Amino acid sequence: MEMAETEKLTPMMRQYRTLKREYSREILFFRLGDFYEMFEEDAKTASSILNVTLTSRNGIPMCGIPYHAAKSYVKKLLDAGKRVAVCEQTDIPEKGIATREVVQVISPGTVIDDDMLASARNNFILAAGRIGSMLAASWIDVSTGEFFIASLDLDMQASSLRKLLFELDPSEVLIQESLFYDVPAVKQAAGTSSAMVTTFPDWSFDIDASYAACTELFGTRSLQAFGIEPKDSSLFAAGVLLSYVKDAAKVSLGHISSIQQYSAATHILMDESTQKNLELVKNLQDAGEHDTLYSVLRHTRTASGARKLRSWIVRPLSGHEAISRRLDAVDRLYHTPQVLTSLRNVLKGVLDMERITTRILAGKAHPKDLVSLRQSIEASLSVYTLQREVIGLTLEDESIRTLTELSSLIDRAVFYNPEASMQYLIKPKYDHQLDALRVGVNRSSAMLEEYQEQLREETGISKLRIRSNKILGHYIEVSKSFIPQAPDTFIRKQTLVNGERYTTEALIAMESQIEDSKQQYRDLEQDIFRSVLQHVRDASECISTCADITAAIDCMQSLAHSAVTYGYVKPSFTDANVLSITKGRHPVVEKNLPPGDFVPNDLHIARDYHRFCLITGPNMAGKSTYLRQNALIVVMAHIGSFVPAEKALIGTVDKIFCRVGASDNLARGESTFLVEMHETAYILRNATQSSLIIMDEVGRGTSTADGISIAFAVLHRLLELRSKVLFATHFHELTRVDSPLLHKLYLEILEEGESITFLNRVKEGSMHASYGIHVAKLAGLPRSVIRRADAMLKQLELTRHSPGDQQELFSAAAELPSAEPQHRNTDRDILEIIDELASADINRMSPVEALIFLDRLKRRTGELT
Ligand code: ADP
Ligand code: MG
Repeated sequence: MEMAETEKLTPMMRQYRTLKREYSREILFFRLGDFYEMFEEDAKTASSILNVTLTSRNGIPMCGIPYHAAKSYVKKLLDAGKRVAVCEQTDIPEKGIATREVVQVISPGTVIDDDMLASARNNFILAAGRIGSMLAASWIDVSTGEFFIASLDLDMQASSLRKLLFELDPSEVLIQESLFYDVPAVKQAAGTSSAMVTTFPDWSFDIDASYAACTELFGTRSLQAFGIEPKDSSLFAAGVLLSYVKDAAKVSLGHISSIQQYSAATHILMDESTQKNLELVKNLQDAGEHDTLYSVLRHTRTASGARKLRSWIVRPLSGHEAISRRLDAVDRLYHTPQVLTSLRNVLKGVLDMERITTRILAGKAHPKDLVSLRQSIEASLSVYTLQREVIGLTLEDESIRTLTELSSLIDRAVFYNPEASMQYLIKPKYDHQLDALRVGVNRSSAMLEEYQEQLREETGISKLRIRSNKILGHYIEVSKSFIPQAPDTFIRKQTLVNGERYTTEALIAMESQIEDSKQQYRDLEQDIFRSVLQHVRDASECISTCADITAAIDCMQSLAHSAVTYGYVKPSFTDANVLSITKGRHPVVEKNLPPGDFVPNDLHIARDYHRFCLITGPNMAGKSTYLRQNALIVVMAHIGSFVPAEKALIGTVDKIFCRVGASDNLARGESTFLVEMHETAYILRNATQSSLIIMDEVGRGTSTADGISIAFAVLHRLLELRSKVLFATHFHELTRVDSPLLHKLYLEILEEGESITFLNRVKEGSMHASYGIHVAKLAGLPRSVIRRADAMLKQLELTRHSPGDQQELFSAAAELPSAEPQHRNTDRDILEIIDELASADINRMSPVEALIFLDRLKRRTGELT
């Protein structure tokens, strides 16, 4: 069957099928003349994604796109989760069909084109596999050259992988087959990330092969320079990753000059839920960037600075010294506003050096890229000079020299002027030989002009012209009326309606001379351009260090600028296990309110008492805000940022946990209560006395009795652990627990008659009423419902100690509406009308509104009678 079909195929379709067998997971762009064509299944899929017409030839579905517009189509396919294999014609033989080869596979994690990348985010591609009980991961940002390996614990929840995915937000993930299929949590984690996920066979993961791939990449004998041993298990996934990027995607990796061990020890541990719940870089509403800590602190001026700031925020430092280094730098900038302002101006001139260099090294350079690189190097060097006295971050002298030389070389050599009529690669005066050739090329046009003059004189045809086009080359054009005057030496080339085109022996000779000199010029120009690129390649390590330092300076100025803009203060760190925040504020909520409207609050956790803050108060009173602001202040301090408070004394924290009760977090597939318990278990197992734990209304997902009991037991355990805890709850019963370690707080509200006002002020003590009914009223529940709820609450409170009586209350509870038809329920309707009248605020109505209101009531009474 298959044979018969194959025989019917044209040679080209046979070639297509052969290629397609190898690239079955990709959309194959098959080059045909000026088009990329897609066939069969690919054509069907792509035509609907790209919105191009699906046609068919000999019954084979096909669609095509013009090759010069491929970029935008590729982007659409990538966005739709597809990979694209680009197949080009590599040779056109005398007879038979062109040979074709896939020259590149484009996938979300391997693009380096600026138009397809978000500048403020790293574009990571990550590979992960299981080795023993560990998870080995490796990731690269091909566009910037950052390369990491890691070996992490692997538990049943795949927490380490989740966290990594959250932190890095990779666009593509390669997972070992058995890991993906044997550990359900891995599949689930991969599914919830936005990355394109592909599984790879187990045999492709191998430490030795990875080691070899890395040494080959760096051209070294060992990886000692990077502190990596031959049998290091964190290498396990690196080989797959490198071979995928290099062999499949055919991206050059020449710009990757180092490999880093990713270690958790130097950073505060925050799991995925914590990062999510604190809205560090993505908000809970739409996973966008707005209303996040990142959005508040991001005043960076460069793309690499923005990327670095993001990584600082998701990985706060845990070492005292490292934190102080950043914090002191921010502090000095804060106190030298002139330097801060100039830095911000100069940084604007630094373009995305890492990505530009990547393009240059990948051989996709345009003179514009080189000019951008030069500009960025120069701006970076001025940045170093500017902050030398303030932050003191800089490159080694040797590197500065290399970069200065490179920059001046580019300046002297590379021609880039978008307005110039002739585009060259190399500037005049850079190379004598090239200048001489250029003179030759220019002379040829003068030569043609002279020849034209000569011919005009000889023939007497004053309108004779020498012109050229791509098809004919050079020719002599004579209009119709002068044709009889053309001499015999003119050789006819082409006849037009209103004239003839000729050539002559002399013109043919001149032409070949012109072509020769042009070709010579182009060849030499290319050689010189390549030698400039080689200089960039030789300096690529310096460039990447330079880019890194500049990005760090950019982050520091961004933090200093935020501090100035929003009135933050420098936190103090202490070795004592305490946390003391005076007049703290929530950086995001505060920014969304009119200036001065945010009510600041204190938090004081001492070494031996008040370690557990139990926070009560009605809905909307500000509990969640208070909890999170304190966690955010701690995170900010560990990043090296100033904090929104009047004063902050912070004992270094090892881990931060933040959990939000099920009622506030419904977006997951599993039973929410089960998730809550999983997460609570995780905290109880991992917290230490240096950890900070935020629990917001945990225990809501089950019945009251269960919920209280669990909450109580958790409280008990956390008191034992002596972690720093902020625990908001609606279980008022918990406030009866008594311990010096417990600090009871509530959010103050003001009751005036029937209405309440939220003061958002944290007070010592606890609140017994929950004011749920007040909130219900604010939300506009009908009066009759509110009245009934109020009555029930009073009864319940009276019979609090007698569950039997409480149940009676519900069965005895008044005359519930009967099953009779509802339309004659006059009493209820009248009550509702009274309700409406009572709650109408006549003072706020315009005369017309009052009339409309009256009219509506009248019509309703009409329906009753
Ligand atoms: P709760 O968790 O007690 O239900 P939230 O913390 O969600 O309350 O706060 C509800 C709203 O009140 C917030 O969205 C915010 O607009 C406002 N709010 C909370 N705390 C403050 C504060 N300290 N100052 C001003 N407004 C606040
Ligand atoms: Mg809340």
